[in-house]
Amino acid sequence: MITIKSKAEFEIMRRAGRLVAETLEKLRAAVKPGISTGELDQIAYAHITRHKGVPSFKGYHGFPASICTSVNDEVVHGIPSKRRVLQEGDIVSIDCGAIVDGWHGDAAITVAVGHATPEAERLMKVTEDSLYKGVEHAYVGQRIGDVSAAIQRYAEDQGYSVVREYVGHGIGRQMHEEPQVPNWGTPGRGMLLKEGMALALEPMINAGGAEVRVLDDRWTVVTRDGQPSAHFEHTVALTADGPEILTKL
Ligand code: MG
Ligand code: MG
Repeated sequence: MITIKSKAEFEIMRRAGRLVAETLEKLRAAVKPGISTGELDQIAYAHITRHKGVPSFKGYHGFPASICTSVNDEVVHGIPSKRRVLQEGDIVSIDCGAIVDGWHGDAAITVAVGHATPEAERLMKVTEDSLYKGVEHAYVGQRIGDVSAAIQRYAEDQGYSVVREYVGHGIGRQMHEEPQVPNWGTPGRGMLLKEGMALALEPMINAGGAEVRVLDDRWTVVTRDGQPSAHFEHTVALTADGPEILTKL
């Protein structure tokens, strides 16, 4: 079922989105060689709870942390750990969700640890830009397929591949609501976009092949070919005036 949000509900989602955006900016500033992903998780937990938010991920299907941290060939759902120390040249995808007054915000960024290679920088840039290509199509009257195809076309034109197993989603009182928003598709196909919908768009783009697998920890998704992957996400409100990114400062 698709939930349609009122203006007042979008106002609460704006606050949840802002808290997620602030948390990610704090984490971006904290990423440096020598910090562990477990420390990043502590920073996120402290910031979210200090501002009366609840981390969306903690306890979600048993997930043990407030953020997901996915390094290099890890695509999504990496579990933060004190033992996972970031090294110069790594890239780390940080996915963060928070609940404020019962409503969710969800966003992700990929950040270089120190200086990344030009190849890794390009992968991150294209993935972020592909997210904005999707946002540009998240207009009332367009269809899900228009958003999906815009993301896919942009990423594949740059020589990258789109992960198929994980997708964007509706969001509101639940972190994951209908509809699913794949990062690939056909223009003009799929559900019609309506005012009051909120969508989390989240391209996961691989430098090599699209294939992924899940590690023995049953969470961490990695690329099959060991090549790096990047992930960017925003929660977007569909208003009569156009798409509004809620997870922005
Ligand atoms: Mg997310
Ligand atoms: Mg999401």
